[in-house]
Amino acid sequence: MTAPTESTAAAPTLGSEVRIERLSVAYGEHRVLRDVTFTVPAGTTTALVGESGSGKSTLALAAGRILPTDARITGGMVHVGGTELTALGGKDLRAARGRVAAYLAQDAAAALNPVLRVGRQIAEVHRVRDGAGRKEADRLAHEALADVGIADPERVARLYPHALSGGMRQRAIIAMALAFRPELLIADEPTTALDVTVQAEILHLVSRLQRQYGLTVIWITHDLSVVAEIADHVAVLYGGRLAEHTDVLGLFEASRHPYSQALLSCFHSGREAAPKAPFTTISGSPPVGRAPDGCPFHPRCPRADALCAAELPEPRLLSDGHTAACHHLEVTP
Ligand code: SF4
Repeated sequence: MTAPTESTAAAPTLGSEVRIERLSVAYGEHRVLRDVTFTVPAGTTTALVGESGSGKSTLALAAGRILPTDARITGGMVHVGGTELTALGGKDLRAARGRVAAYLAQDAAAALNPVLRVGRQIAEVHRVRDGAGRKEADRLAHEALADVGIADPERVARLYPHALSGGMRQRAIIAMALAFRPELLIADEPTTALDVTVQAEILHLVSRLQRQYGLTVIWITHDLSVVAEIADHVAVLYGGRLAEHTDVLGLFEASRHPYSQALLSCFHSGREAAPKAPFTTISGSPPVGRAPDGCPFHPRCPRADALCAAELPEPRLLSDGHTAACHHLEVTP
C-alpha cells in the first residue's frame, strides 16, 4: 500500500473557479468583513478595489486562510476548485497553503529572509514541503527563477536579498509563491512599491504565468490603472461590504454604485486634470473599526437619505455578472 500523502485536500487542477460565499471576518468584536459574495471564473483575474480599511486585505488573507491569530472567519465559505478552504484545518490546511492558494505579499523585502541566499529560500520550500534532495531542490529553484524571467538564475540564486533590485525581489517571491503551481494566486498590492516601468514588467510577467499555468488570480489594488491593465472582473469593497461587482468594462463605463463612481472620478481627475488643478477626492474618511448603521458609505455619499442611514442595502443583480448594493441605483448621478 502506498504511504499516505501529506494531505487529503483535493489535488490541484489548473484553471479552478473560486467562489467566495457570504464571507465574514472579525477582529475581536469588530466585524471587518461582512457577507461578501462573488465568484472568480477559472483562469481569470478579479481585482479587489477600495480605500485603506475597506476590507480588501482582510478578504485576501481570509481567502488564503492566512489571517493573523487575532482574526477569525465568523461565517461563509471559500471554495477553490474542488476544495472548500474554509473547511480545512491542521495538516490539510498546511498542505493546501501554496498548493490550492498561494499569497504574494506587497513587501518583497520583508517576505524574504535577509540572511539566506535567494536560491536557498526557494529550494527550502521544496525540501521541507516535498522532501526534495538538495540537488533536486537547487535545480527546481534555478528553474523557478528562470521561469520568472531571471536571465542568470544560478548566479542570482547565490545572492542575498539585499543585493537584488526591487523588481528582482518581487520576481523571487513570485517564484516562491508559484513553487507548487497553486490554483489560486492572491496578490496583495505586489507592485505598489515599484516604479512604473518595473510595475509594467511584473504585471506582464504575472499575466504570462497566469496563461501558462491556468492560474485564477485575486489582485488587490487601490490603483485603477492596474485594474484596467490586468483585471477581467472587479469587486469594489467599502466598510467591509461588497459595494459593486462587475466586469472591468462595467466598472469603467457603467458603474452604478456611488462609491465606485467616486473612485472613478478621483482616478479620472488624477489622469486628466490640467496641471496644478486640484484633484477630486472623496470627502470624509472610510470607517475605522465598527462601520456605521445602515449603508456604510452613507456619511460620505452625496445621494444618502434617511433610508440609507437606517437600512443596510443588500446586493442587487443588475445584469448578468453585475451586482451593486445601494438603495438608490435608479438615480442617475
Ligand atoms: Fe449612497 Fe444610500 Fe446608495 Fe449607500 S445606499 S451608496 S448611502 S445612495
